[in-house]
Amino acid sequence: MPTPTAAMMSLNGRVVPYDQCFVHAFSGAVKYGAGVFEGLRAYWNAERNDLYVFRLDEHLERLRYGMRVMRLDPVFEKAFMEDALLAMVRANGLRENIHLRMIAFLDGDDELAATGPVGLVCGAVPRPRSKAVTEGVHVAVSTYARLSDNAMPPRVKATGNYINNRAAELEARRNGYQGVLMLTDRGKVSEGSGACFFMVRNGALHTPDVSSDILESITRETVITLARDRGIVVHERPIDRHEVYAADEAFWCGSGYEVQPILSLDRLALGSGAPGAVTRALQQAYFDVVEGRTEAHPAWRTPVWGNAARVAA
Ligand code: PMP
Repeated sequence: MPTPTAAMMSLNGRVVPYDQCFVHAFSGAVKYGAGVFEGLRAYWNAERNDLYVFRLDEHLERLRYGMRVMRLDPVFEKAFMEDALLAMVRANGLRENIHLRMIAFLDGDDELAATGPVGLVCGAVPRPRSKAVTEGVHVAVSTYARLSDNAMPPRVKATGNYINNRAAELEARRNGYQGVLMLTDRGKVSEGSGACFFMVRNGALHTPDVSSDILESITRETVITLARDRGIVVHERPIDRHEVYAADEAFWCGSGYEVQPILSLDRLALGSGAPGAVTRALQQAYFDVVEGRTEAHPAWRTPVWGNAARVAA
């Protein structure tokens, strides 16, 4: 079944119907996978009658940075991309939880070293909370190594990178798992196909550092901040596969995944094999902040409908 993308999309800053949002089949994005994208969420807050995009500024900043790394011409200012995204959400009249996608891509029909023209597309998909957030997931270590920084740029969301993630995810699903954990080419824990990994040992959080070929994830940074706000010690460091087997708890996180407990790795239960207390506390903190049920971190929430003015810090 196709994903139920909302009726109106945005192409190069213009709101267009979904079935008219086209890119040429010989564009650099199709020929070479040359593009960079973002996945964001927006949360409906019924009490305030507003929809909050979570960490919009950081996502747009990473998109710009990704375009630089990919050497795409820097044609879109942040304000232009923000307007394009919000205009699309408003054109759809969306007042529910949604996942937002933006892709800056190599357009035209030139050869490998072209850096423009660059296009921008945005769309929204209504998306309620997944069962995995409540119930947790069973995960396998992938036989595919995570792509390495010396070959591709894992720290940005380059579209071509996701051939690696897709292969790993497909393999795990074929084998009956609900998700996959990739190791670096040096054999250290890296990340999931769309989420960053955390484990709890003796009350402290441990997560692979940014040199473990991970995406510079905004949710990872959010979780680290929320944990430290609560006095939890966080270590960012290289982690071995077999150390994960010793974890008291584990979870992974991302804009799309949100915060999902990991119940087992390679069919070995982690801790009790049920979502742990630290994981549950951080999930609660995460949903409170994204949904705007707390006054903390107001700059992280951008109101779409403007009923609540952007809450001052
Ligand atoms: N790693 C990968 C490979 C991802 O695709 C994502 C999802 N964007 C994440 C981690 C989590 O990143 P973020 O918190 O910025 O969504």
